[in-house]
Amino acid sequence: MGGVNRFQTRLPVAAEVRRLRPVRRLGGGRLLRLDGEGTHPLVDFSSNDYLALAEHPALITASRRCLEQLGAGAGAARLMSGDLELFHTLETEVACLKGREAALVFGSGYLANLGVIPALVGRDDVIFCDRLNHASIYDGCRLAGARLMRFRHNDPEHLEDCLKTRRGAGAALIVVESIYSMDGDLAPLRDLVALKNRYDCLLMVDEAHATGLYGENGGGVIQAEGLALEVDVALGTFGKALGSYGAFVAGSRGLVELLVNRARSFIYSTALPPAVAGASLAAVRLVRRQPALRADLHRKVALFKAALHGQGITTDLGPSQIIPLMVGESGRAMELAAALGQRGIFATAVRPPTVPHGTARLRFSITRHHTEDVLRDAAAHIGELARQSLVQK
Ligand SMILES: *Cc1c(COP(=O)(O)O)cnc(C)c1O
Repeated sequence: MGGVNRFQTRLPVAAEVRRLRPVRRLGGGRLLRLDGEGTHPLVDFSSNDYLALAEHPALITASRRCLEQLGAGAGAARLMSGDLELFHTLETEVACLKGREAALVFGSGYLANLGVIPALVGRDDVIFCDRLNHASIYDGCRLAGARLMRFRHNDPEHLEDCLKTRRGAGAALIVVESIYSMDGDLAPLRDLVALKNRYDCLLMVDEAHATGLYGENGGGVIQAEGLALEVDVALGTFGKALGSYGAFVAGSRGLVELLVNRARSFIYSTALPPAVAGASLAAVRLVRRQPALRADLHRKVALFKAALHGQGITTDLGPSQIIPLMVGESGRAMELAAALGQRGIFATAVRPPTVPHGTARLRFSITRHHTEDVLRDAAAHIGELARQSLVQK
């Protein structure tokens, strides 16, 4: 029983220890905390289920049908006997969504980055990585064993300086996200495409937070910018705006052939459960056919930002559905999160080491569950707390 905690020494310092906080989902984007911190339902402002598809009847029906017809698990990896027809249908649909020849489904976005990057580059090569890239990208880079050059966030000039001095003779890969998960800002994709052509690099873009939300068919920021054929490797997840789970990589047939042979997180892992792939397929079809879903979200995002401005918040709220509210010190961010919790709002404080010191913030993500009233009320609460100088105006 109990005794000495042998793992204590490996924990982060007390102020940075994270704890799980169980919640119960009440539907409609509301949740109840089960950790004793408050007893009333909260509006969830930290979900990535932007289009509210996780509860959509089309996904649930498709998922249930796949579960009943194909079973609870795929039973094996794709290269063994797990290569269900369903995955091929999903990949064809994803390739259409992204305007590319081919796509390959992975277990998750994390697994995709872990598998793809080492498949593309190795020890004699170099990776140019935006400083604020997601942890899964960094982990993929580490596994690749290539030289890693980090360039300043969204700074093509700094990237070019790095390319001039460090491009080397081997292969070179530039990796960015299209919408960054913490600041909600956009990568300068056109500049990056110009650089990747000038310096003969591969360009990989992680669209985890953009898939389903931008572009004519929901193909992402790459599609919105008309750059589908310029991006060598496009990654997206089914777990965020698509309301399901899993991920994909889209590109040329040659890319997919390489990944099937070299991406170890694809080769050595059981295929996704059919019910999950079925939900993803339904989601991709929905976002391609119903641009109104995106339009509804963007209208709500604009309304929330306008309401915040109306409350006297003048900091940059960014161009996307991810809205950072700058606070500064970590302690303050936690205080503000708690104060909002008391007012029925669940928003997560993002603190160092996830973001640089002195830039702790609250991250609001807007979803289609948020009604206009909910958004106006939330902005009013934030404004009130700002006037008590908890938020930077
Ligand atoms: C969330 C995220 C991932 C991981 O995707 P999962 O499907 O949740 O594993 C990868 N890259 C970025 C940029 C992300 O935001």
